[in-house]
Amino acid sequence: MKYAVGIDLGGTFVKAALVSESGELLHKSKLPIGFSAKQQTILKTITQIIQETIDKATASNLKVQGIGIGTPGIIYEGVVLGGSENLDGWENLDLATYFSQAFNLPVKVDNDANLMGLGEFYYGAAKGCTDVVFLTIGTGIGGAIIINGALYGGYKNRGAELGHVVVEHSGPDCNCGGKGCLELYSSTTALIKQYSEKSGMAIDDLSGHYIIGKYHEKEPNAVFCLEEHTKYLGHGISSFINTFAPEKVVIGGGISDAGQFYIDLIKKTAFKYMMPDCGNHTEIVKATLGNDAGSLGAATLILK
Ligand SMILES: [Zn+2]
Repeated sequence: MKYAVGIDLGGTFVKAALVSESGELLHKSKLPIGFSAKQQTILKTITQIIQETIDKATASNLKVQGIGIGTPGIIYEGVVLGGSENLDGWENLDLATYFSQAFNLPVKVDNDANLMGLGEFYYGAAKGCTDVVFLTIGTGIGGAIIINGALYGGYKNRGAELGHVVVEHSGPDCNCGGKGCLELYSSTTALIKQYSEKSGMAIDDLSGHYIIGKYHEKEPNAVFCLEEHTKYLGHGISSFINTFAPEKVVIGGGISDAGQFYIDLIKKTAFKYMMPDCGNHTEIVKATLGNDAGSLGAATLILK
C-alpha cells in the first residue's frame, strides 16, 4: 500500500492528511494561516504541518511516497503563476521545488478546486465515473473538469475557471476582469449580499446557514434569494452539461450541505434548459467528502 501527504491550502487554514492509496484518511490536522500573513510565515506553517504528518506516518512505520499540494491560483508544473491575491507572495512561486528540497520527496501541486474535484472523482460522489464536472460553492465558485478519467485544465493548466463563465454580459464587474460571471450570482458571498440588500440586514450578521433556515420558514426574501441563486447556478450547469456531457455534476462547498432540496432546485433549472441529448445521462449530486476533498485529492497526485 502506498501513502502520501495531501495538503489543502485555503485563505485562512492549511489542512493536511495522511492518505493511503485506497483513500483511507489515517491522520488529519489543520493550522490557521493568520490574516495578512507573510509568504515566509505561510511557507513555515505548511512545512510544520507536513513534518507533523510525516512524523505520524513514521510512528506507524508507514513510508510517505510524496506530497500533493492544493493551493488557490493558476498552477503550472509546480509553480503558482498567479490568481491567488489573498496569499502574500504567492505569485511566480515554485512550491514544488521548495517543498521537494525541504523534504527530499516528490511534490506535486495543483489548483485547490481541481483537487477537490479529483478527490470526489477517486473517493467520493463521482467514484467510478469517467466524465465529471465539479463545482465548489463558497466565497467564489471553483471548478474542476474531469474528461475521460483525467483532470482537464486546458493548455498549460490555465483553464477550468468555471466560476467565471458569463451569465449576464452586462452584469457587474468581476475581479477576474470580466463582467457578470457566475460566481457574482451563485456564490455564497453573492447570496448573502443579495439577501442583505433585500432584508436590510448587515452582511456581517448573515451566513448561508441563516438564509437556508429562513428559506425553510418560507420567509419571502430568503425564498427569492435562494431561488435566484439556484436558477443562475442551474443555467451555468446547463451550459456545462451542453459542453461536457458529464456523467455527474458534483456540487461541493458548505452550502451544498443545505439538503437535497438545494440540489433539487438546481436540477429544476439545469435539466429544464440543457440540451436533452447532452444531459440524458447526467446526474447532479452533492459532494460527499466535505472538507476532506481537497487534501484527499492532493494526495492522489502522488498515489494515482
Ligand atoms: Zn469573473
